[in-house]
Amino acid sequence: MSVPRPRIGLTATFCTHPTYEMRMAALGQRYISAIRAAGGLPFLIPGDTPPEEAPALLAALDGLLLTGGGDIAPQRYGGEPHPAVYGLRPSRDALEIALVREAITRGKPFLGICRGVQVLNVALGGTLYEDLPSQYPHALRHRSDDKTEREMLAHGVRLAAGSRLARLFGTEHLEVNSLHHQGVRDVASGLQATAWADDGLVEALEVPGHPFGLAVQWHPEWLYQKYPQHAAIFRALVEAAQEA
Ligand code: MN
Repeated sequence: MSVPRPRIGLTATFCTHPTYEMRMAALGQRYISAIRAAGGLPFLIPGDTPPEEAPALLAALDGLLLTGGGDIAPQRYGGEPHPAVYGLRPSRDALEIALVREAITRGKPFLGICRGVQVLNVALGGTLYEDLPSQYPHALRHRSDDKTEREMLAHGVRLAAGSRLARLFGTEHLEVNSLHHQGVRDVASGLQATAWADDGLVEALEVPGHPFGLAVQWHPEWLYQKYPQHAAIFRALVEAAQEA
């Protein structure tokens, strides 16, 4: 008998079908294929799931992937309205914050991607830059709207020696893509920053002492095929979920 593949829940959003004009649960296919390629069994978590259902969901899953998406409502972290803030979905904020808190409490392995690192930080009391280009002095170009640049290596990141990230990649320097206009401002107490862009911006957070609690600001789902080194982060999540 083969070993059961770990069940990984992926947070999804909603979109309107262009032809049928009806609301659809939606998730970028790359997240799904990355989890499947790493040996996980992907399950979609609808974005309108009531936050009270987070414990039941995580009880049924072996691991969690917090996916990318629009901005978190600034009032969630004591932030200010900003004209560049876009794509607010308060119900998704509430669900993902409940999911990540529950994953931390239960010691359930999770990986956050892009918005996911921001959700993790806000869930534990950290804050965000509402808009890097206007608020972060000397910022690198972290954001591109050019679809061809999703797989482009945009900047380096330095990984903290001895961190989970440095161990799983076997290096203290990575080149990553960059598709975000917000970023981590104050790191929540209870989290450790473990990667920084060349301009000093935090690009990864870890939960110390947790079996696998990690989130990155870049998008490995767009890199893992072209740059197989980046598949390691999905394999590490799936392996942790297997052991949990
Ligand atoms: Mn970046």
